[in-house]
Amino acid sequence: MRTTVLTVATLALGISGAAQQATQPNDDHRLGYDDTPSYPGSKWKIHDSKRPRPSMVSAACNAPTVKAPSDAEVLFNGSDTSKWTTPQNNNGPVTWKVENGYMEVIPGKGGVRTKQSFGDIQLHVEWASPSVVQGDSQNRGNSGIMLMGQYEVQVLDSWDNPTYADGQATAIYGQYPPYVNASCKPGEWQAYDIIFESPKFDGDKLVKPAFITVFHNGVMTQNHEQVLGPTLHRQVGVYKPHSDLPLELQNHNTPVRYRSLWVRRLQGRLE
Ligand code: MG
Repeated sequence: MRTTVLTVATLALGISGAAQQATQPNDDHRLGYDDTPSYPGSKWKIHDSKRPRPSMVSAACNAPTVKAPSDAEVLFNGSDTSKWTTPQNNNGPVTWKVENGYMEVIPGKGGVRTKQSFGDIQLHVEWASPSVVQGDSQNRGNSGIMLMGQYEVQVLDSWDNPTYADGQATAIYGQYPPYVNASCKPGEWQAYDIIFESPKFDGDKLVKPAFITVFHNGVMTQNHEQVLGPTLHRQVGVYKPHSDLPLELQNHNTPVRYRSLWVRRLQGRLE
């Protein structure tokens, strides 16, 4: 009898072990995940490893810096960080490296945030990933354009660097891969031109979601995409009411450089 019990228990353990082995998530998530939730209505899981990765398009790299139009506000000109603070340092001055016409993320020093708040904007950003390649997937040249501090247009070295599709350069992180991959080589200057329509709330109610359009090195990679909520790692983001908020640049512990940022506050057409 006892032998039988042991046999059944052993058999049960064996089945359990086999089932566990079959469903156990892979620890290597460089190409994504298979155990994450989906946004309602989406056929893809967040950071879905099976989501197709967009093909490369050769674009304008190392282009000259784009002059800010007269109605733009220059947020960073390569040397002056007075428009920015460091939340991790009690909103004190920027602690990133500033030299030779750029500011560079210093790992561990936190992100930077504009002193001013913004709503609907056109934003121009010039950035470069490290010329010396270290790491891969999300650990290679990762930063981010954090619109309103919570809606991320991904900054990543996506040159010959496979990662999950909704996490590569100009992805709306965790929601939409870019249409194509218009990335430049490591160390080359790249440009983002972003049109951001901020979400609108009436009290606690969302009355209009955010929308994002992106041009990457002159190539359209996001076309008026409806943002599904704050962009999060492995989680469904849920809108919470807010008014205008500052712009942030993410510190993902890789030394990404920024040399130019300017913004235009979008007004309606004259009627
Ligand atoms: Mg990022």
